Amino acid sequence: MTAPTPLIAGNWKMNGLAAALTEARAVAAGAGSTSARVAICPPATLVARMAEALAGGRVEVGGQDCRAELSGAFTGDISAEMLIDAGAGLVILGHSERRAGYGESDELVAAKTAIALANGITPIVCVGETLAEREAGRTEEVVKRQLAAVIHVNGHCISEIVVAYEPVWAIGTGKTATPAQAQAVHAVLRAQLHHAASEHAAGIRILYGGSMNAANAAELLAEADIDGGLIGGASLKAPDFLQIIAAAR
Ligand code: PGA
Repeated sequence: MTAPTPLIAGNWKMNGLAAALTEARAVAAGAGSTSARVAICPPATLVARMAEALAGGRVEVGGQDCRAELSGAFTGDISAEMLIDAGAGLVILGHSERRAGYGESDELVAAKTAIALANGITPIVCVGETLAEREAGRTEEVVKRQLAAVIHVNGHCISEIVVAYEPVWAIGTGKTATPAQAQAVHAVLRAQLHHAASEHAAGIRILYGGSMNAANAAELLAEADIDGGLIGGASLKAPDFLQIIAAAR
């Protein structure tokens, strides 16, 4: 199987009022000729409006989280079905900010992935080690455990997921993993996917995330097992994000 088309996904986190739709429109206008798959994951309040604003174009819209249930008495939460209803085609799951800030376990992330897959929205499943774990030589063990939980629950359906390797120490810090550091972990994840679903492993996108920007995107994306990026800060301004998209051509 040939390598997948790169996916460049913006994670706006808790940033963006209606006026920020201008940035999304500018990304859509500037991304016209890229061969990469491009997505923006705005806060939930903007998903529907962004999907309407970008309808018919090549920039997809995603959510940043969903509940592991489809409906019920879960004040403040949002379901996979609601995201799809609003026009989203992807959803970020298990981001380290949710694992750390909301105590999301590997099992919960796996359950959320299952409900996303069952409802036809593409999960971008995030894995990544903290600085303490890296310094203790535990990087491989941590990311494999995080991915194993998702594989265990979802079996062969994992061919439909996107994986994002996001070292926690690189997120929002300006400290990017070197291409070699990132590639080493991506290769571990690829091998794990191969073991679980050999016929699909080469086609599953493994994105890098963590201070990816216009200056470092090209060298990261040139690595054999880096199939795109999940970009936070540098996705908020269209010119910066467009430079990263251009690096993925
Ligand atoms: P960053 O965030 O690009 O701002 O480091 C990436 C992410 O958290 O997805």
